[in-house]
Amino acid sequence: MFEGRVKKINDREDKKDGKFVLYCMEVSQREDFNHSLEFAIEKANSLSKPVIVAFFITDKYRYSNQRYYRFMLEGILKTKEKVEKRGIKFIIRKQSFIEGCLDIGKNSACIVLDRNYLKTQRNWRIEVAKKSDVAVYEVESDVLVPIETIATQQIPYAYIYRKKIYEILENFLKPLDKIEPKINSLDLDIEGLQLDNLEEILNMLNIDKTVSTVEKYFVGGSDEAEKRLKIFIERKLPKYREFRSDPTKDYTSNLSPYLHFGQISPLKIALEVLRFYDREDENVKSFFDELIIWRELARNFCWYNPFYNQYEGIPDWAKKTLQEHKRDYREYEYNLEDFEQAKTHDPYWNAAQKELLKTGKIHNYMRMYWCKKIIEWTSEPKNAFDIACYLNDKYGLDGRDPNGYLGISWCFGNFDRPMQERKIFGKIRYMSDKGLERKFSIADYVKKYL
Ligand SMILES: Cc1cc2nc3c(=O)[nH]c(=O)nc-3n(C[C@H](O)[C@H](O)[C@H](O)COP(=O)(O)OP(=O)(O)OC[C@H]3O[C@@H](n4cnc5c(N)ncnc54)[C@H](O)[C@@H]3O)c2cc1C
Repeated sequence: MFEGRVKKINDREDKKDGKFVLYCMEVSQREDFNHSLEFAIEKANSLSKPVIVAFFITDKYRYSNQRYYRFMLEGILKTKEKVEKRGIKFIIRKQSFIEGCLDIGKNSACIVLDRNYLKTQRNWRIEVAKKSDVAVYEVESDVLVPIETIATQQIPYAYIYRKKIYEILENFLKPLDKIEPKINSLDLDIEGLQLDNLEEILNMLNIDKTVSTVEKYFVGGSDEAEKRLKIFIERKLPKYREFRSDPTKDYTSNLSPYLHFGQISPLKIALEVLRFYDREDENVKSFFDELIIWRELARNFCWYNPFYNQYEGIPDWAKKTLQEHKRDYREYEYNLEDFEQAKTHDPYWNAAQKELLKTGKIHNYMRMYWCKKIIEWTSEPKNAFDIACYLNDKYGLDGRDPNGYLGISWCFGNFDRPMQERKIFGKIRYMSDKGLERKFSIADYVKKYL
């Protein structure tokens, strides 16, 4: 049931006189198909203890803004209700992750954490493991196949990851049974926020309110994610392969914000798709290539490459060729402000940036174009990398995610092969406005967002 997903990350033991098992929810913000939650319940049952769930919010996080806090809290409040229906206390606290885990955890028998692949959050876990007196377990529920089961180093190309995953995927395509907690924890007296109202919680936080909220386009929560999944399977998946790259059509799932906050499990998505379609169906293959191969490759990348969100993380050949062409003549050059305000000469690029500003997401094809043009119009490639990360992380509901760092790194040549040499880009793959015009009714896309 938890094959390859659970790792004990310190050398302490489960404490016999601990009052409960504590699960600190962070990556998998859901009640359903959550291996960490089920593991915590199983552990609590085996120790004859109750289990509790805690969720910590802080306004100290670098990217804290109301756009994604609203989306996240919409989801968390619904998850709280669902967890409590199972007789499990759910505490929300305004506290840092480390302080919260240690503070509640000091009375626990053991602590269960979700695995997170990013540097800051990994360091939080190291601190909790180091400072806690009880055993700390890390559970990986964000992927179909645990990344260390596939490889113990960075995998440079998707085709290698694809081959490795497909050899063993079958073993992991299994639903996750729910375990009933033996002891109800709802009456345990542990301090948490007394607020169940989204607006009150948002008002309590000192977060960036200059970034607009996007509830017109995305409302957070597992139920919303499931509605989108249903629509995707019924209406879009049958044409996914043909139309997924066309930014003027709506044929992708739009599940990335929900996946980013763990409001839906990728395993559940895959199993739902397979309830209706064969694995050999060309649309399923194409969709699984994104949902499983590229998404899990991104997690492998962030886990094994410490420079995943920096220019330094791209391959040497890509750095060399970009450096060689650094002084090439650029017809247009822009700074962060121009990019952020969508003030370039290019209506296609501006429309992509406006899609990001307005909705919190960009269509995948336009996201590639968007990042490639930032490289073209910035004199220093390292600055281009930082600008792309900054904008994607600040405005993307699905930003701050391994997928984003892989996507940006890909635009700089990572996971790709050298092409014929040209101005500015050197041997890095290039994209042009003419290409957009040739392939799509791109004027329709511009109309939608300008
Ligand atoms: C420069 C750039 C920046 C990107 N930033 C992000 C980001 O911040 N967050 C993010 O989730 N994705 C990012 N991507 C990847 C991709 O654009 C989005 O995942 C996709 O557009 C999400 O839309 P969807 O859910 O409708 O995708 P669908 O086509 O329905 O795919 C289903 C799921 O598969 C995963 N997926 C799809 N494409 C990719 C991909 N190329 N790489 C990795 N996983 C993928 C996503 O989780 C997605 O939700 C970026 C790509 C590029 C080129």
